[in-house]
Amino acid sequence: MALTPLIAGNWKMNGTPDFGAALATELAKNFTYKNIEISVFPPFTSLTTVKACLENSPIALGAQNIHEAAKGAHTGEISAEMVKACGCKYVILGHSERREAGETDAAVAAKTCAAMAEGLVPVVCIGEKAKMEPHQAQAILGSQLRDSLKNIAITDGDQIVIAYEPVWAIGTGLVPTTEDLEQAFDFLRVTLVKTYGEGVGGQIRLLYGGSLNAENADEILPIPHINGGLIGGASLNAESFLSIAKAASKYA
Ligand code: PEP
Repeated sequence: MALTPLIAGNWKMNGTPDFGAALATELAKNFTYKNIEISVFPPFTSLTTVKACLENSPIALGAQNIHEAAKGAHTGEISAEMVKACGCKYVILGHSERREAGETDAAVAAKTCAAMAEGLVPVVCIGEKAKMEPHQAQAILGSQLRDSLKNIAITDGDQIVIAYEPVWAIGTGLVPTTEDLEQAFDFLRVTLVKTYGEGVGGQIRLLYGGSLNAENADEILPIPHINGGLIGGASLNAESFLSIAKAASKYA
């Protein structure tokens, strides 16, 4: 079964609710592709406003993080239940900017468990920090994948999304070569199928993230086993984000 590509926009710490409303309204007005899914990940403070702007649109909402606990004395944190109640379908977990601030694979696994218990779909991010030989990168990806999903029961490919984001490519304008991407995504697919079986591991969407934009989307998105993208900078502008969605719809 072909997987529906997901084009996900991580707005990071950008924009007030007014900014989010304007961007979401523009996206909702102009998103017309039926064979792909798009989702936006605004800051927590814009979730409710953005959700209202997406009311009659197929565009999904996601959060950028959650705490692993269901509730309690965790000042400044947000739970899975809270973002679900704001209308989120997805949550990004283990983004490199959070890993850089100390988030471990074990913490990502705990958050993944909390998200799935609430019926959210985690977008779990993995990626090597520096440019290196493919076999070295694969060793890191394999261990991040194993440890970030430790003891998580995945019985359906729709329950989770994996985003491969080489950290050196995020926000730098650099992207891996086509050959390196082919090898990395082949490795990830084989690993998922070995771990969860063809019926589940073959159905988990794999996204590429790292300087994906309207100019390089046609080179990256057709690569086998890439089922969409996680986009930072280019997701803050409706025209560029929709251009990437348009490219994805050609390869769906
Ligand atoms: C990201 O932060 O997940 C990302 C991919 O950012 P950018 O597209 O700006 O490289």
